Amino acid sequence: MRVFLAFLLAAAFAAAGTPFGIVIHGGAGTVVPGRFTPEVEKAYREGLEKALAAGYAILEKGGPALDAVEAAVRSMEENPLFNAGVGATLTRAGTHELDAAIMDGATLKAGSVAGIQHVKSPIGLARLIMEKTPHVMMIGEGAEAFARSQGLELVPNTFFRTPKAVADLEKLREREKAKPTTKDTVGAVALDRNGHLASATSTGGMLDKLPGRVGDAPLIGVGTYADDRTCGVSCTGWGEFFIRTVVAYDISAQMAYLGIDVDKAAHASLDKATKLGGPGGLVAMDAKGHVTMPFTTPGMFRAFRLSDGTGAVRMYADN
Ligand code: ASP
Repeated sequence: MRVFLAFLLAAAFAAAGTPFGIVIHGGAGTVVPGRFTPEVEKAYREGLEKALAAGYAILEKGGPALDAVEAAVRSMEENPLFNAGVGATLTRAGTHELDAAIMDGATLKAGSVAGIQHVKSPIGLARLIMEKTPHVMMIGEGAEAFARSQGLELVPNTFFRTPKAVADLEKLREREKAKPTTKDTVGAVALDRNGHLASATSTGGMLDKLPGRVGDAPLIGVGTYADDRTCGVSCTGWGEFFIRTVVAYDISAQMAYLGIDVDKAAHASLDKATKLGGPGGLVAMDAKGHVTMPFTTPGMFRAFRLSDGTGAVRMYADN
């Protein structure tokens, strides 16, 4: 009888399986009801859904978290609605400079790029830097030469330009005393069936940034971080303040040193950046699949799907 019960328990456990899932964001900012037409709102939600599905399909088949976050982020890089890849914001000089990073929570390996002007998928380049070079971060021309040597697709800088990105810059310039503005940066954190976490972030950066400016997204431990022992994090918001408060690693460190959960740690770290002057948001997940998606802006494009059947696609404060 006892053997039979043990067998039943083991079978139930196997059926429940190891938890896995993915959480993504498409940027924090003035995402409020009434700002978008119903068509644009639908397009944003579908864009999030598509990115989520791209990542989740990989996890479901038993693929690695790294592949899932890369696929989800690439899907949003290819979507002109988001500020990553095509659709990236314009710099003050009217050009596009892209930043991206990826990190493997199992090995703490990471790859990142900044100031990219011609590589179609900056997240793909970040991954290759992680896997094929002894380096973590590469910038500008050297990074692009490496991309070329690896056969990555290079495009003219104008490839990233969209009417929306041009209009956003024009609108900003019309406003008196315009402040740099956060835009729809994209990111993902995934947990795979083997219990490994990975994170990825990709962005055109702050609208109207000075050429040469680097934000938080490609800085490991700031906009992007993953450690199987704690959590994976991808941030969005006013990068300068996130850099000064080292948000992503701060979340991981709080979990490790204070033993607090991912949700509490994420809120505490985000509050530090916001109090210093830089609102924003982030998505994070721990190695058990607990997800958090806090933000201190009016809204944030965000979505998650977990193997327990739960999931959501949201953009406003409450939906
Ligand atoms: N965090 C990004 C940056 O500062 C911008 C954003 O998330 O909207 O480059």
